[in-house]
Amino acid sequence: MTLDIPTLLLALLSGYLMLGLQLLVARRGALRQPELALWTWGSWGFVLGFGLFGARVVIPVWVSVLAGNAFLFAGLLLYVIALQRFVRRPSPAAPYWLAWMAAVSATGLMLEMPLSERTAWLSLVYAAMLAPGVYLVFRHGWRGEASLRAVGLTLTVATLALTLRAWHAFVQPDQYTDLLRSSLGQGLTFLCAFLSLMGAGFGFVLASFERAAIQMERLASHDGLTGCVNRSSTDDLLAHLLERGRREGSPVSFAMLDLDHFKQINDEYGHQSGDAALQAFASEVRGRLRGSDVLGRMGGEEFGLILPATDEPGAMRLLEQIREAVAALKVPTRDGREFGMTVSAGLVVVASNSGLSADRVYAKADKALYQAKHGGRNRIERSLPPQALAAAG
Ligand code: GH3
Ligand code: MG
Ligand code: MG
Repeated sequence: MTLDIPTLLLALLSGYLMLGLQLLVARRGALRQPELALWTWGSWGFVLGFGLFGARVVIPVWVSVLAGNAFLFAGLLLYVIALQRFVRRPSPAAPYWLAWMAAVSATGLMLEMPLSERTAWLSLVYAAMLAPGVYLVFRHGWRGEASLRAVGLTLTVATLALTLRAWHAFVQPDQYTDLLRSSLGQGLTFLCAFLSLMGAGFGFVLASFERAAIQMERLASHDGLTGCVNRSSTDDLLAHLLERGRREGSPVSFAMLDLDHFKQINDEYGHQSGDAALQAFASEVRGRLRGSDVLGRMGGEEFGLILPATDEPGAMRLLEQIREAVAALKVPTRDGREFGMTVSAGLVVVASNSGLSADRVYAKADKALYQAKHGGRNRIERSLPPQALAAAG
């Protein structure tokens, strides 16, 4: 078997061309992540780089070597920057530009070297440039999208193949003296390195798809402003948790919480400050919940709190803590002022044998909330069972 470099170049050129086109199409569809744009540019860098290598039949060899490698270096660095953004560890661009300039200058200095030595050193430079990408995936991306792991593994193969190529060129220099009559080892390491790098590109498209799917799923069930589950998911969860409470014989507490005089906050401090207040409120409440509790945004400044396996004293204790904590919150405004807020809540405790539907639970919690508002706000009211109401009357 022979793997001559010009044929490999042609194969890789068409492969990267296909990758570039596929990325272009993917970006016109559902995927608009900026990281994918970087990967696309990186792939065009490879297309140009390989094209320039091939063009040495018509352009001076030194131009082909210098410009071809410069484009490949740029492509590689764009891949690494894309990964860096993807795993949300963005860094300034300056180090990358410096690395690129250093790599291009080094290539310039290598022009006079024998081909074998140049191949060895250049392979090492490529491996060194790829290494941060491998590190980023393994250190920061491994627990994220499963497809990113494939990217990490293919990048590792590419880095290893480049290192092997460097070692091979150092120990067997005679196999690297003529690109047209190259050895199997030389062809294989070249193919393996750049093919796995291409594979990493397809893996990156998959990872971007995976991320978009997760985001869409989240958007369908969560509120974008506060990160709470939305109204329809809260409905589903309440019905589900009431049913489970019935089965397990444990009470479920449900509270409707509504911020007091929220309209005034908007009017006085602006809608953006109102949004900030909603976020601060949600994060304050969430910080006090157990993993099984659910805070849903029912709409506007109204929230539903589901507390499975929680009896009345437990629910009242928590709601009282929330009420005090919210009253102590200070929300800063953009113009340097700050304001506070209070919350009212209506609680209903559903006994496991009550048979109440989710709709009835809402209605009762709403009524209790209305009483809390009527009783002066910044307070919690319980929905009393019918017999207690009759006794009170
Ligand atoms: P009360 O104490 O009786 O609950 O009075 P309130 O002013 O809080 O009640 P009302 O229901 O009259 O006003 C709710 C306000 O919440 C009106 C609306 O502009 C505001 N609001 C609803 N959703 C949002 C939002 O997403 N962001 C902001 N900033 N304000 C919102
Ligand atoms: Mg309100
Ligand atoms: Mg309201």
